Amino acid sequence: PNTPQPITSALDPRFAPTLYARVGRPDAYTLDTYLQDGGYMAVRRAFALGPDAVIDEVKKSGLRGRGGAGFATGLKWSFMPLNDGKPHYIICNADESEPGSFKDRYLLSEDPHQLIEGMLIAGYAMRASVGYIYIRGEYVQGAERMQRAIEEARAAGLLGQNVLGSGFDFQLHVHRGAGAYICGEETALMNSLEGLRANPRLKPPFPAAAGLYGLPTTINNVETFCAATQILRYGWEWHAGMGTEKSRGMKLFQISGPVRRPGVYELPLGTTFRELIFDWAGGPLEPIKAIIPGGSSCPMLPYSDKILDTGMDYESVAAAGSMLGTGGVTLVPTADCIVNATWNLVRFYAHESCGKCTPCREGISSWMTRMYEKLVRGHGQPGDTDLILDMSDNIGGKSFCALADACLGPVLSSIRLFRDEYDALERTGTPLYPARKRWRDE
Ligand code: NAD
Repeated sequence: PNTPQPITSALDPRFAPTLYARVGRPDAYTLDTYLQDGGYMAVRRAFALGPDAVIDEVKKSGLRGRGGAGFATGLKWSFMPLNDGKPHYIICNADESEPGSFKDRYLLSEDPHQLIEGMLIAGYAMRASVGYIYIRGEYVQGAERMQRAIEEARAAGLLGQNVLGSGFDFQLHVHRGAGAYICGEETALMNSLEGLRANPRLKPPFPAAAGLYGLPTTINNVETFCAATQILRYGWEWHAGMGTEKSRGMKLFQISGPVRRPGVYELPLGTTFRELIFDWAGGPLEPIKAIIPGGSSCPMLPYSDKILDTGMDYESVAAAGSMLGTGGVTLVPTADCIVNATWNLVRFYAHESCGKCTPCREGISSWMTRMYEKLVRGHGQPGDTDLILDMSDNIGGKSFCALADACLGPVLSSIRLFRDEYDALERTGTPLYPARKRWRDE
């Protein structure tokens, strides 16, 4: 049960899965099956509409970036300059590395042509003639299938010069990362693509003004490009008719932790945590004390009736005190020591810090990690938690990119929700919830 399986489902029969409709079908990654399922109809419609109308269509659909930040996609596309005579680039961020997130992985390996089509549509709309797909190094099958799909598309005249006789030229390349979380940060990703060390750049300028090689660039997540394919296929009204007022459409939610059926579920935005956890994932396997709503960077929420009845849309999760992020929901069991669980996340961020700026390099990678180790190993002293809070105050909002702030998500929320567990380690050196045999080992 610990291996996440791609599961496609829809809560309401009106909302049939689209992004994941083909995931799990035999040979879904081949061009033949994609064409049989109506593939590359959306890009033909885009060519018929014209580039400005495509951007308009995406704007009206209400699509927001599915990489985690939820920035309006149509608006982002409209930031690209028109007729400036310079080469434009589009980049697909397939560096999915946020702990608890594993939705893009199956889109890459199971339905690569859906992504190629979305990038063709986006490239056409934004007057880009070159696209890059930056895939995290660990996604070996995804990168291989993506590469093969690009070759198939090229041979079929779907990529290259004069795509489908439209007069539009578009080249697409796969670039494999080497396993660094920071490469998912869009400016670090561009440095990595350029062959530089993956340190983030200062924003602004945003990529549309100065991106890859200093030229106009737009970076979107895998799910966002795939959603664009579906929007052009079914029309903006279809997409805008799902979800909530400000969070439109379907979303790939992921659920992990001690739950009966972990996996990826395609559901309308605004579906409640309760529906995801109980109706789709079969309910928890043991008592739960916290929910990480959208990947490890998003502050933990208490496992309460109020939170369970909260809709998983950008606004409702923000109002509850966290972020929807990537929609990667993780359940934290009651019997796990929260300080130890948070230390695990802090070590992740420390390991992935690029070391460029002092608050992150010294604060997270060195001091914060050692404070947690001290507490968890039973050497805590009264005042340690307050010191962690004080350090957090000097790190939050003071680092170069979002990585250090992301680390503070679990740190601050776990202290706020479970201060008693920190206090116990400070006072006695013994955790309230001692280490135990994991449920998955039993
Ligand atoms: P951000 O809010 O800075 O930017 C989001 C996007 O909008 C970017 O592409 C940015 O260029 C654009 N943008 C924002 N403001 C703009 C403006 N004024 N003008 C033009 N463009 C603008 O967020 P971010 O740092 O890119 O991403 C943070 C998110 O990434 C977090 O919410 C987290 O959930 C998510 N994340 C995801 C993963 C993953 O594996 N998918 C990993 C780590 C973090």
